[in-house]
Amino acid sequence: MRVNAYAALERGQELVAWNYESQGLKPDEVLLKVLACGLCHSDVHMIDNDWKLTAYPLVPGHEVVGEILEKGSSFNHLKVGQRVGVGWQRSACLHCDDCLRGNENLCSENTGLITHGYGGFADRVVVDGRFCFPLEDDLPTEFAGPLMCGGITVYSGLRYAGMSSGQRIGIIGVGGLGHLAVQFASKLGNTVTVFTTSDEKARQAARLGAHDAIMVRRGGLAESPKKPFHIILSTVPTSIPCELYLNLLDSDGTLCFVGVPSEPVEVPLFPLLAKRRRVMASPIGGRSMMRAMLETATRYGIKPTIERFPLSEVNTAITKLRHNSVRYRAVLSP
Ligand code: NAP
Ligand code: ZN
Repeated sequence: MRVNAYAALERGQELVAWNYESQGLKPDEVLLKVLACGLCHSDVHMIDNDWKLTAYPLVPGHEVVGEILEKGSSFNHLKVGQRVGVGWQRSACLHCDDCLRGNENLCSENTGLITHGYGGFADRVVVDGRFCFPLEDDLPTEFAGPLMCGGITVYSGLRYAGMSSGQRIGIIGVGGLGHLAVQFASKLGNTVTVFTTSDEKARQAARLGAHDAIMVRRGGLAESPKKPFHIILSTVPTSIPCELYLNLLDSDGTLCFVGVPSEPVEVPLFPLLAKRRRVMASPIGGRSMMRAMLETATRYGIKPTIERFPLSEVNTAITKLRHNSVRYRAVLSP
């Protein structure tokens, strides 16, 4: 079967219409008709080969919502015609200790949708049915995509950083991930401060649930927070001044990276040592966490703010994302 996609043929280039022949389905595979697909900054990192993981032609797109057109012989729990979401993770071994603990995202053999195959900027996509997540009818197609990577990443990151309720939580960067993090943290009963480079986002943050906004200027922060944070989550795709943020944490506080700068992160020891603070990083989330995230989003009415584009205008969306002018997640429809 011919799949009509958009692909980067070389590093950093605009995507072009491109097609490929899809082979027959393996028992664990499912063929989806793509209904919508979010554009994550990781797609841009992959187009630019920032992480030295990219094989070209690259078909980006890993916040897929699709309808099952065909399924491999292994599945009874999925039905043809059913609507499912698929995120960054293509597959995992499912028998190692990490997988058996429900941490399939930590599996040493895990594969990515767009690092080990072609992604969702296409009319069709073949995925592993074990990493397809059935969607409830009351979750609209265009809102589901951004939850599949952006949503799970911030929810899982915050959970493993120790988020409960009644805490002070800082979110650095109000983009696709950041604007969802603000909602999860605030709806679950925490006091949220955003750190943003945008005056406009600082003003809008309250509507997303933030209690406070602090401007990030070239020379540092425009003001100091009044109280220390239990958790600070960085969603920024470039380097951040680590020491500055570590010093804003309470004793035993955690700085958690979900944003992935290409350069190594420099962590000074003394701000950690003095207050027993921690630094961690968190990749996407396992399957049980994905279900918990979707349930939490539904229960608390958490949904992305999106800008819609036809897939044929994918380059316009990518340019907007590169210029940090998407509010707050671009979603493409074939
Ligand atoms: P995004 O929509 O572009 O948001 C990133 C935000 O970071 C921007 O809105 C901006 O917020 C801030 N920022 C500060 N300096 C920036 C700069 N030089 N360039 C762009 N943004 C800058 O990106 P996203 O889709 O949320 O992804 C954010 C990061 O998370 C990326 O590195 C992505 O690869 C990573 N990610 C990681 C995982 C994981 O598993 N850990 C999963 C998905 C994505 P302000 O305007 O508020 O300053
Ligand atoms: Zn992503």
